[in-house]
Amino acid sequence: MSDNKGPPPPPPPAYSAPGPQGQGYGQPPPPPPGYAGSSTVVVTQPGFINARIFREVPVPMQCPYCQATITTSTSYEVGTLTWIACFVVFIVGCWLGCCFIPFCVDGCKDVVHSCPNCRQTVGRYDRM
Ligand SMILES: [Zn+2]
Repeated sequence: MSDNKGPPPPPPPAYSAPGPQGQGYGQPPPPPPGYAGSSTVVVTQPGFINARIFREVPVPMQCPYCQATITTSTSYEVGTLTWIACFVVFIVGCWLGCCFIPFCVDGCKDVVHSCPNCRQTVGRYDRM
């Protein structure tokens, strides 16, 4: 009796695919000429800072107009909320006199921050 396990299976054929490996692909195109050099071009409204740093209180900052370190002077101006409040009071109260109350209440007006040095408006607190 021969304990024959059978012939070993033939090794799988060494299949090596000599195909292209993608060499040479994926090179980014060169940047257009004249692009380098202008790195930081931020187009904003000069001087007017439309940020959320402005609230109802004066804000210490550097004036973008006169470059002075200032604390903004605030003034109240009729804004969107003023008109909405006027409209609401007019609808609810139906008193013609009362609908002008929001125009007298500073809490319903926008706060305009201006530079006390050069009197330029540097910011605005829009309640809406
Ligand atoms: Zn100023």
